[in-house]
Amino acid sequence: MSAPPSDSQPASRAVPSSVDVVVVGAGFSGMYLLHKLREMNLSAVAFEAGTDVGGTWYWNRYPGARVDVESLAYSYSFSEDLEQEYEWQERYPTQPEILRYARHVADRFDLRRDIFFRTRVNAAAYDEQGRTWRVRTEHGDAVTARFLVMATGCLSASKLPEIPGLDRFAGATYHTAHWPHEGVDFTGLRVGIIGTGSSGVQSIPVIAEQAAQLTVFQRTPAYSLPARNRRLRPDEIAAMKANYRTFRQAQKESGFGVPTPIPTKSALEVSDEERDATFERAWESGSLVNLLTAYADLSIDQAANDTAKRFIHRKIHQIVEDPRTAADLCPEYPVGTKRPCLDTGYYETYNRENVHLVNLRRTPIVEITERGIRTSDQAYEFDVIVYATGFDAMTGALTSVDIRGRGGAPLDEAWSAGPRTYLGISSAGYPNLFMITGPGSPSVLSNMVVSIEQHVDWVTDAIAYLDHQGLTTIEPTQEAEDAWVDHVNLIADATLYPKANSWYMGANVPGKPQVFMPYAGGVGEYRKTCDEIAAQGYKGFALSV
Ligand code: FAD
Ligand code: NAP
Repeated sequence: MSAPPSDSQPASRAVPSSVDVVVVGAGFSGMYLLHKLREMNLSAVAFEAGTDVGGTWYWNRYPGARVDVESLAYSYSFSEDLEQEYEWQERYPTQPEILRYARHVADRFDLRRDIFFRTRVNAAAYDEQGRTWRVRTEHGDAVTARFLVMATGCLSASKLPEIPGLDRFAGATYHTAHWPHEGVDFTGLRVGIIGTGSSGVQSIPVIAEQAAQLTVFQRTPAYSLPARNRRLRPDEIAAMKANYRTFRQAQKESGFGVPTPIPTKSALEVSDEERDATFERAWESGSLVNLLTAYADLSIDQAANDTAKRFIHRKIHQIVEDPRTAADLCPEYPVGTKRPCLDTGYYETYNRENVHLVNLRRTPIVEITERGIRTSDQAYEFDVIVYATGFDAMTGALTSVDIRGRGGAPLDEAWSAGPRTYLGISSAGYPNLFMITGPGSPSVLSNMVVSIEQHVDWVTDAIAYLDHQGLTTIEPTQEAEDAWVDHVNLIADATLYPKANSWYMGANVPGKPQVFMPYAGGVGEYRKTCDEIAAQGYKGFALSV
């Protein structure tokens, strides 16, 4: 794999022996947490494996990396001054622009002084007598804290594919989530890329423009919509800035953290012409949410969903000239049950002479060789292999830390049949441990900045409540956790989500329990539940002095 990124860093400081709160991770979650904790006059440190802030936007520097939620919506709302002063350039900004924003926030709120970069947290153990967490880093430092908050990200534990011979390839290899900071020049090279999720779909058109040849190895095709990205106009920025408070409130009450009208009609009750016109408007709008919320029953009724599937299949066949390639690019699972993609010229890329699609359903990969990739029917030679093979999502970053709760119980064992949380925020047996956008919360089914802010606010309010009441610990009861897990499953089972082999289900990691991990009840409903629980003195939690 390519050399790890390296940024210049401030000189090393001593890790404090004891703080109120340890935060793990300095992405959007960890950054806002630090700011909030400081406002509460609590002592806090954050540990971050990378060399700078930004999390996702620090690591995923592959060509074409962008958000698929609009910048004016995918941004912090906690500071009106920040909202007003920051100037977004594009509707869907690139990774460098979002990283610039994260750095701006770190500078503006002077966050870096409490962040230890290049520092991975390896272990955390709860001391039942002291009612504290003992957190250990890869450098051998240990810090004691009253509270531990895992802001480690849902999509931060990257994953290589389980293919024999990975180490054999003599050329360069890159994973999209560990892209070198200096970039990669593909000019004149023969490139193979494995993976056609969002990272593959975004990078393939850009790599194709540079490479001599690009061969795409696709196991499962993605549903992708054209982003129709563009520079933002000054008048629309001004209009949003004038209306930001109303917009933010609408985000909080919405289903996906992106305000959209709530659909009332079934896709099956309208004429073909009306339905096609609705889907066409969504396709033209460059917004995934517009497609997913075009009809009330797209996510719950197979026949309704099939109408959207047929519409996108038609689009693919219209764009892609070679009928066999077009057919190979058409997914069969229900639309939206794997994360749909937003692209810039993705399907058009397959009309280029230097791009070739290999359908792994027909001819699976057998091995990586010294020269390239061998499938069941052909050996391909490459200078470079790109792995766009995704993440051990939602649980990977949490269970890779040796977290021990009451009685020394390891978290990964407690979750061996799938993650178990109350509200996706905390887990029984792990007092004073919080997760930001943990499994069992809307997290990856939402505009994540909205969900991150909601969790950070809820967690910091809970800490303030404990301190105000003279209490020391908070921990969900087993009953409350069991009931929440049942509720999360019940809602998921009423949808089509479990019908796809998605990372939402843990299906991309061999041996991982197949459980639908995010909460599919919507951001607004979820927030209401969390607020009610807090208002009832943290119902479902055991609080102790
Ligand atoms: P992260 O940004 O993942 O940050 C977690 C940080 O924790 C990382 O920097 C990691 O290094 C650090 N860390 C983890 N474990 C440890 C440890 N043990 N010790 C020390 N440090 C540790 N969401 C959207 O809503 N809209 C989008 O358009 C969108 N696009 C995305 C594009 C890509 C390529 C990816 C991968 C994700 C995207 N997401 C998107 C999801 C994105 O992850 C969230 O929006 C958000 O950035 C998550 O912030 P976070 O701080 O919670 O986690
Ligand atoms: P991903 O969606 O999990 O896609 C991984 C791809 O690699 C899939 O096509 C998968 O095929 C393939 N793959 C994995 N192992 C393989 C193997 N052994 N052989 C062949 N193919 C293999 O990962 P991602 O693309 O990095 O995206 C993850 C998530 O991050 C997204 O869903 C999204 O939430 C977020 N993201 C968002 C954006 C954005 O547009 N803003 C961009 C990038 C990422 P299978 O499907 O068959 O497993």
